[in-house]
This record gives sequence, structure tokens and C-alpha cells, in this order.
Amino acid sequence: MTALFARKTLLPTGWADDVRMVIDGGRVVAIETGAMRQSDDDDITCVIPGLCNAHSHAFQRALAGHTEQRSPAGRDNFWSWRERMYELAGRVDAAALTAIARQAYCEMLAAGFTSVAEFHYLHRDPTTGEDSEAMFEAVATAARDSGIRLTYVPVHYERAGFEDPEPTARQASFAMSADEFLAHFERVAARCSDTINVGVGAHSLRAVSKASLERIAGLAGGEIPMHIHIAEQQREVDQCYSSYGRRPVRWLLENFDVASNWSLVHATHMDDDETTALARSGAVAVLCPSTEANLGDGLFPLHDYVSRGGRIAIGSDSHISINPFEELRWLEYGQRLVSHSRNVVSLRNSHVGSELFARALEGGAYASGQAAVGIEEGAPADLVVLSDDDPMLAGHGDESRLDALVFSGYPLPIERVMVGGHWCVVEGSHVRRDHAREEFAATLEALGRAS
Ligand SMILES: [Zn+2]
Repeated sequence: MTALFARKTLLPTGWADDVRMVIDGGRVVAIETGAMRQSDDDDITCVIPGLCNAHSHAFQRALAGHTEQRSPAGRDNFWSWRERMYELAGRVDAAALTAIARQAYCEMLAAGFTSVAEFHYLHRDPTTGEDSEAMFEAVATAARDSGIRLTYVPVHYERAGFEDPEPTARQASFAMSADEFLAHFERVAARCSDTINVGVGAHSLRAVSKASLERIAGLAGGEIPMHIHIAEQQREVDQCYSSYGRRPVRWLLENFDVASNWSLVHATHMDDDETTALARSGAVAVLCPSTEANLGDGLFPLHDYVSRGGRIAIGSDSHISINPFEELRWLEYGQRLVSHSRNVVSLRNSHVGSELFARALEGGAYASGQAAVGIEEGAPADLVVLSDDDPMLAGHGDESRLDALVFSGYPLPIERVMVGGHWCVVEGSHVRRDHAREEFAATLEALGRAS
């Protein structure tokens, strides 16, 4: 049992002064505001709850910065990027995945993410071609090494497109039948722990048939987090309309019981009726603005969606950037750029940074299947300690502290990070940073030699 004494703490009710938190068994078991410091307390300055990174493809951390050169044909888009991504996916074995994911997870923790939903469909180790859970173990090992809380989301992939029931040659290395996938889910679900829980997912409407999606959704029921990419690209919307006679979000909502355990990743291309219907469903729209910008996806109708009651979470997806505050900043900036106005997502709180943070915290809890939201009794002790004397926060009080974090692009003032009662980041660095960096560099060098 340990006790923390914080000068400033962001509780579900707002900022509180002189908060004493007792942590036992990885959870916050008691919170007292306006408390007296006790002699053995660990002093911290300013503490906020950690955010969930609700959409990650950890292996793509190895691709950051490698796809920014125009191809000779000069028609670069999401689909040409995907070929580069598949090429990497075909070479990442379990050992490489461990090193790449460990580096990504250490970076997430240092940036203030304390949990991650890993959207994972590379179930076969390319060296053996077998689904022996080696790739799941790689992700789980990386999570344990880094200390991040993991929601492992095994994802089904079975076909190349709506009218193309077979996978392409590249997709064949990770595609599987629905029976194989459901067996994989059962095996990994049996291996959960305190800091690893399981969700389930389908890659997209184009990559999974309706019959398979029904089986996966049936497995999720109303409880297990259910994730799916949807309407990320206009081409996918057109193909869905042509095959199913509906736009993707509309078709999904008409054919499935989409509720609060569902996470729809991207949902970029929605018409006005789809925006309203998705907002009313209770599902989470998982938005990844840095990746969506990098891939040229389009802009999510954020203001319309949240003003109709929609839930959001954020993800760093392809990991060209790992910084929750940058994701929140670009969520708002996208809206400003198209609406020629400022302070757009300020519907519940006039301070946009505070509102975006609260929305991402709540949506992330739904996306990862966590019952508690934020720092409260009974919740996991997943905490981010800010350096109150950092220049970024100088001159900011309770009202604008989160605005500074979201909208100032300076180095993050994160001093320490705790997950489940363990400090993973101390003095601004992940405790295993050097080991993670060395293994990551060696892995990238080996992948470079093999390409
Ligand atoms: Zn994705």
C-alpha cells in the first residue's frame, strides 16, 4: 500500500487541492480532498488520469517517416501506402514485433497514454506461417515490459473486398477463416490478466463478410469491446454502396446492434443522417487525426457528431506521432480550418482543452472495456504527474491548465506515469527507455537489411 499527496488533482468533479490518494492492489482505494499530508506520503505536484490510446497498430511504428517520398507514378494515396505497410507486415516476425511494440508502448507511456487497444490482425508469425499465438505473445510481452495496460483486440481479416471473397497474395499471409479466428480468440481470451484484457474486432466491412461479422458481433455481445474500421476512405464508401446498397455506417447500424461496447474507427465519411444515427447509438467513434491527415483520409464531422451526443476516443493508429495532446489539438484544428472559426468543441465546457480531454477519457474507457473513468475510488491507479513548474504550465490555473497541455506544442511536461500502482515513467523518461531503444534500433536495422 502506498499513499500519494498531490497539490493539484483532476478528479471527475474537476480540479481539487491537497488530495491524498491511497493505492493498494493497483487501484485507488481512498481519496481525500483538502487533506493533511502524512509523513510517509509520496509528494507529487499535479496529477491527471492517463488516457487510453484506443487504436494502435504497433508494428507500424517501424514505418514512421518511411512513406513520405512521392512514388514515380506520382499518385500516392491510402492504397499505395497500404502496399508499403503490407510489405513491412510480411517481414515482422514475433521477435521484431516485440521490439517494435515495446518501443511504441514506452513512447505512449512517456506521452501520457496509460492504456492501449491494440487492433491486431497479424496472427501468423511470417517465419512459420502458423497461428501459434506467438504474435499475441509478442504484443503481450511488449505490454508487460513497458507496463502499459493492454486491451488486446484480435481482429478478423478474410477477403480482399466486397466482391472479392479471397484475400490478395499479401493478405493471404494474415487472412484466416472465421472458424480459425474464433478459435484464436478463445485461446487468447483464456490468457488474460490484471493488466491485459481482451476485445474482439473485424478489420472492416470490405475485409469481412456479413456472415463472419455476425459471428464476431455475437461473440462480443453487449459486453466485450467490439472494434471495426469503417468509412475511412471514399473508395470504400463507394464499393459498399455498390455491393450492399447502403453507405458503410448506415449499413452497419441497420444490420447490427451497435451499442456502447462498439468502437467505430475513423467513421470519416458519413452523411448527416449517419452522423446523427451513430451519435445516438452510444458507440464510440475512435478518431486518429494525425494518421488520418497523413493518409489523406478526410475530416470527421466532429462538431455535428458531438453536438448530437456522440462519444469519441482517440488513437495514434499508425504512430507517425505518439502524443494524445497532439491528437486532441488536431481534432479541434481540423474543425477550425473548415469552419473558419475558433473554439469549436466547447459544448459542455467553454475551455476546449478540458472538454476534449474529458471526452477522450470517457470514450477511451468504453473502447477498452474499463468500468471506471478517471481518478476515483475503485479505479485503476493509472496516473500522469505533470511538472507544475514547467514553462508550458506557467501562468495557468485550474481553468486553463488542460488548454495549455492540448494547444501548446512544446515538449510535454510529464514527470512521472503510474499504471496499476507501478511507476513506468520517472523523471520524464520511461524506466526501460534505453533497453527499448537499443532493441528497436537493432530490429529496424535488421528489417532494413532484409528489405
Ligand atoms: Zn487502423
